[in-house]
Amino acid sequence: MKRENRGFWPLLLVLLLCLGVGVGVLAARMQLSGTEVTTEPTAVIVTPEPTEEPLPVILPEDCGHPAFENGVCVLCGYVCEHPFHSTEGECLRCGEKVVHHYVHALCSCGRIPDYHESLLPDRFYEPCEEAGTILSWSFETTDWSRQMPVTMKVGFYLPYGYDPGQKYNVLVLMHGLRTTEESWLGLPLPLENDREIQMRWIYDRMIAEKIIDPLIIVSASQYLYRGEDFYKSKYEQMAYELQNVILPYTVENFSTWAEDSSPEAISAAREHFALGGNSWGSYFTYDTGMCQSLPYFSRFLCFSGDANTGWIVEQLESPALRDYSVDLYYAAAGDYDVALKGEQSVFYTVVPLVERLVDGENAFFHVCQGGHDWATWSIEIYNALQLVF
Ligand SMILES: [Zn+2]
Ligand SMILES: [Zn+2]
Ligand SMILES: [Zn+2]
Repeated sequence: MKRENRGFWPLLLVLLLCLGVGVGVLAARMQLSGTEVTTEPTAVIVTPEPTEEPLPVILPEDCGHPAFENGVCVLCGYVCEHPFHSTEGECLRCGEKVVHHYVHALCSCGRIPDYHESLLPDRFYEPCEEAGTILSWSFETTDWSRQMPVTMKVGFYLPYGYDPGQKYNVLVLMHGLRTTEESWLGLPLPLENDREIQMRWIYDRMIAEKIIDPLIIVSASQYLYRGEDFYKSKYEQMAYELQNVILPYTVENFSTWAEDSSPEAISAAREHFALGGNSWGSYFTYDTGMCQSLPYFSRFLCFSGDANTGWIVEQLESPALRDYSVDLYYAAAGDYDVALKGEQSVFYTVVPLVERLVDGENAFFHVCQGGHDWATWSIEIYNALQLVF
């Protein structure tokens, strides 16, 4: 019995082995030949567990050194191009403060503009150490409607550290009644509680704190005569002089994005030119700007004004102007401003009728706490400057 048993077990083992190898070879063949596999797959597919970790920010290649100072590598001189920044405006590579740029009022870092509703922080109501330069110029002309000689004045704000080797955006600001071209620049303007402000302090500090890029601000005296045939001098002559005198002079004498002072060159750089104004200056912005100078400006800031909405819509939709983009239309007024209703009705009449103006994308209406005064306009120029370029 014992002998028989010894012979049976090795034989069974050999048989089982042969069977196992045979099945294995068959299965492998079926898989190799791509035919349908009826056996269970042997490989285990591991599905990674979802992770809570945020995806790492992949920065484009640079010199690879870890030490930057003022955006420049201290080891090799590589200049950081600031590829990504935090919502605090710090470059994720070198730590430098960078300016947020908003498209549809949203920066690529996720930040929305820092709108103010009431008085600006105290530091904006005092001079800034890094002060820009104000220059003035004037030209002689004839008032078209009254046919009398007149001297028109133009003021220029050049940012601190102005460098003719760089290109600057240009914002032209129009003033209202009872003020001059200096009001948007260095004129002391009264606020409540015996306080004063100069608009240039806001520009100086916003540039120094890297809230905005340095820019050139131009402000011209206006035709405010309201007698017979006033329309001609107020708007038509102003539009003519903006296009043929003020813009060419600005381009010839300062470093802007326009290649030269020809109408074609200024028009080609129109995304770097903005026009704005307060009170009557807002009327001018609509009329001389949006309606008559759209080939030269693509951005408009209208504070506490009013306008002929039918004419704006007609002009914006006209064959001559229809193809010119409006990159920004920012309208604003104070909550107890006599012009709140007027400015508001222009915005909410024009925007729905002009397809390329979209509320919340390139068109914005903002109300702050203030009247028809420089408290409102100082807040709104702060708000608008963040969006304008
Ligand atoms: Zn380096
Ligand atoms: Zn950087
Ligand atoms: Zn940002």
